[in-house]
Amino acid sequence: MTKIGLEIHCQLTHLKSKLFCSCKANYREFEINENVCPVCMGLPGSLPRLNQEAVKKATIIAMALNCSTPKKIAFFRKNYFYPDLPKNFQITQLNIYGDTSVGGKGSVIVDGKKIRITRIQLEEDPGRLIYEGSSSKNQITLVDYNRAGTPLVEIVTEPDFESPKQVRAFLNILSDLLENLGVADPGLDGAMRADANVSIEGGNKVEVKNIGSFHDLEKAVHFEITRQNSLHSRDISIIQETRHWDDKRKITVSSRSKEEDLDYRYFIEGDIPWITIDNSVLEKLKSEMPESINSKKERYISKYTIPEQVADVLSSDKFYSDLFEKSHTDSNAKEIANIITTDLMGLIDTREKREVSKMSAAHLRDLADAITSGKISRNSSKNALYEIVKTGNSLSQIISDLDLGNVSDESELTGIIQEIIISEPQAVEQAKSNPQTINYLVGKVMQKTKGKADPKLTLDLLKKLIG
Ligand SMILES: [Zn+2]
Repeated sequence: MTKIGLEIHCQLTHLKSKLFCSCKANYREFEINENVCPVCMGLPGSLPRLNQEAVKKATIIAMALNCSTPKKIAFFRKNYFYPDLPKNFQITQLNIYGDTSVGGKGSVIVDGKKIRITRIQLEEDPGRLIYEGSSSKNQITLVDYNRAGTPLVEIVTEPDFESPKQVRAFLNILSDLLENLGVADPGLDGAMRADANVSIEGGNKVEVKNIGSFHDLEKAVHFEITRQNSLHSRDISIIQETRHWDDKRKITVSSRSKEEDLDYRYFIEGDIPWITIDNSVLEKLKSEMPESINSKKERYISKYTIPEQVADVLSSDKFYSDLFEKSHTDSNAKEIANIITTDLMGLIDTREKREVSKMSAAHLRDLADAITSGKISRNSSKNALYEIVKTGNSLSQIISDLDLGNVSDESELTGIIQEIIISEPQAVEQAKSNPQTINYLVGKVMQKTKGKADPKLTLDLLKKLIG
């Protein structure tokens, strides 16, 4: 049986400062090596000070993944030399003196299968290496320490996955969950990285490191299973080793370094005291936790009779469910859910498009009301929405500028219907004997008005005029 376990590193992107100093957690907005201080540069004599908010956010993640959270947490030094690690050790967590990581022994149900979470630990991110120069002879390596010390949560699973498909399903659930908790932004470049361990029946465990995105994680796991199966089918033994994911060639390559836990010479970080997390703090965090995706979905279905598939799509995306919460009322909820999932999601489907979009919750409310009251047809509403996103003008302005409004003037509509009654005598006779066929005449009115006739008024007038 194929067994896959994951170690997922997720940046806590919504924090103000780094894990042990007051430099900004959002290192992306800085020029190279401008977001640094003696602490995150590892200068002698500097002392770390733990960011309490980071502990809270990591604890929230642990609770959302059904983990138990210990009374006391501790930090350890993981010693190794690498240019992106200025202190020559990383401050991280380890369950060596009992469970002292922020969380452990949790689980998530993925496609009906229980995936166990081994532990969740809080640690600092290293800096970033930048390779420059074209050929291997000219290549130079630069180091940017802006990222050094930013808060990272590592989520370690048991080897419970059996296929890359299960891995992908888990990643989807996890990124929606982290986004919904308001702790991470999985869409940001470099915000999610992972290692995976993969083994097939009868083979040794292989660790794949250095996977830079969720997208590549599924590919790396798939590649590794195929590679191991190919060796196995040729009776070549699969050696236990560490391999690196080469994201340019999209393959795993054997890496010479084979660090074991012992090589890191872990020891307790004496500069940070053990932290006690009181029950009252845990209770407060629990009470402040945002509504879960599942609970939102159930509420959308039961309270507003939104179809399950629509509720599923809407609840799992924080951006759109927040928008829904801001714009809907009891009466227009279904219509707003419909506009968001059928039209808006296609219109602003990237981060960039969302950022430049001029649409507000009020626009969405106006649009839903206009559709419900027959002021604008569903067809024209798509054009109106496009204009709203582009210009931010009010809906009434857009309707008048682009002449998108429905023909709802009774005398104007009566005139049009009378013309159609004259030109379609056969259909009129048929509608008299079989009222259902009146839809044909409604269609003719729509054709003539380019879809802009108020549908309800059209039907009422037709019935009246046919007699
Ligand atoms: Zn700093």
